[in-house]
Amino acid sequence: MTAIPTRPQPPTPGDAPTIIDRFVAANHGYAADYRDGGMDARPVQRVAVVACMDARLDVHAALGLALGDAHVIRNAGGVVTDDVIRSLTISQRALGTRSVALIHHTGCGLLDLTEDFRRELEAEVGQRPQWAVEAFADLDSDVRQSMARVRTCPFLPYVDDVRGFVFDVRTGLLREIA
Ligand SMILES: [Zn+2]
Repeated sequence: MTAIPTRPQPPTPGDAPTIIDRFVAANHGYAADYRDGGMDARPVQRVAVVACMDARLDVHAALGLALGDAHVIRNAGGVVTDDVIRSLTISQRALGTRSVALIHHTGCGLLDLTEDFRRELEAEVGQRPQWAVEAFADLDSDVRQSMARVRTCPFLPYVDDVRGFVFDVRTGLLREIA
């Protein structure tokens, strides 16, 4: 028996639409012009980008990427956590990527945090989070640490082309970290 997929409905006029209601409405317009490019799941440029989730960083536009070109793996800070390693491992071993670009940025929210965030959270909810905050005080050294984590990861077969950058949210320019 095949379940009939239900399509989310756009909001009824009169309700104050939430942002997610607006997503649903926008998606109807997107799908109307959508053309299946016939690509498979392997990124065309064989590259994975690890970047901060910051709302000011448009990874595709900033790097000249087109749809289908790259895996983009994002989290708070663009730090190389175990879950990023999981994604990179799948990206390289199952989906053919060969290069890794790491992008942090100026004005990152993690620059204002410390591991106290974790302790305060534990005090508030009575449960210790399993994850580290991965806060950092110095962008360049954290990019270097992230590059080192990728380059030394035993699960990743392709670590020759791993480069790290800081994106300047004021100028839009990338600065490479040696
Ligand atoms: Zn950030």
